[in-house]
Amino acid sequence: MRRFALAIGIIGAIAFAAGAETRPDEARVFAVPGPTIAAAPSTPPASKEQPSKENGATRESTGVTSDPKPQEPPVAAKTIFGAAATPASLAARSIGFYSRGCLAGAVAIPTDGETWQVMRLSRNRNWGHPKLVAMVKRLAGDVAAKDGWQGLLVGDISQPRGGPMLTGHNSHQIGLDADIWLTPMPNRRLTAAEREALSATSMLGKDGIHADPQVFTPYHAALIRRAASYGEVERVLVHPGIKKAMCEEKGVDRKHFHKIRPYWGHHYHMHIRIACPPDSVGCRPQPPAGPEDGCGKEVDDWIALLQRPPKVAQPGAKPSPPPKPVTLADLPPECRLVVEADGDDGRDHKPGKPQDARGATSR
Ligand SMILES: [Zn+2]
Repeated sequence: MRRFALAIGIIGAIAFAAGAETRPDEARVFAVPGPTIAAAPSTPPASKEQPSKENGATRESTGVTSDPKPQEPPVAAKTIFGAAATPASLAARSIGFYSRGCLAGAVAIPTDGETWQVMRLSRNRNWGHPKLVAMVKRLAGDVAAKDGWQGLLVGDISQPRGGPMLTGHNSHQIGLDADIWLTPMPNRRLTAAEREALSATSMLGKDGIHADPQVFTPYHAALIRRAASYGEVERVLVHPGIKKAMCEEKGVDRKHFHKIRPYWGHHYHMHIRIACPPDSVGCRPQPPAGPEDGCGKEVDDWIALLQRPPKVAQPGAKPSPPPKPVTLADLPPECRLVVEADGDDGRDHKPGKPQDARGATSR
């Protein structure tokens, strides 16, 4: 447990940049960008636009009244999307970018499958694009059949309508990102309470930088390689210490190592990102990972970066003001329709359902 706590302390001191997310159970500060990170888009300028009447269709009051005197700030998009309990009853579509968008026609991965269990059920983040949900199910079945895993513990995917979240992740907004715990699924059904309380296991050793070979084994590496082997998977984010350990493993196929990207955090779970589905108009793709396996200088640079002492703020330095919250106006315009669309239970969606975002009915 000491090692675990130490690892948390060290990694907790290191903040990370936009485009990825926190470990499964905690929100983190975001600050220091790393090298060769798959770029998230730069933040568009905050819109001056005030919420229109249409915003009143959301579950949160916008506070807009005919009295112009007290100008209420626009409601943060995370408040609106965080309050959506059901998916938008529209054709499945990922809209925008992984860290700036929303999701229509989401489906839920069932909380229990033969080879998976969804964790942290209270968060209601087991929603994704049907293609992503299909990928997670396939991975769970494959690793159980071929890699000796009992099954997977599934972490956060997206909210029912995607979008920014009140806690954690910058990405996971368009239903194409999934966190899979590196802790194997136990040989029994966890209770709902256990799924809230159980902590994921860090794969790192005492230094909080390198993987502990007693914890991170070839069995874990096989899971990560399996995820990276799928055609629709564009990236699998793991802690640099994990990537380093995978690079040092002898006799394994590195064919898909270019997709296994080192990134801050991600020593409790891996983050799998799939490509924009071809029929998701308005889904903004990420540049493909280069052809290099990333095992030489790239991963070593990351390790060196982690070994550097954290930056200390200059005494008397003004703290930078908190970033302006992202509002609905900062997201792709179609996200307003996603917010306003009727909800459903997410069970009957088939891709290509006739209604699309343009035909959305307002509440
Ligand atoms: Zn993630």
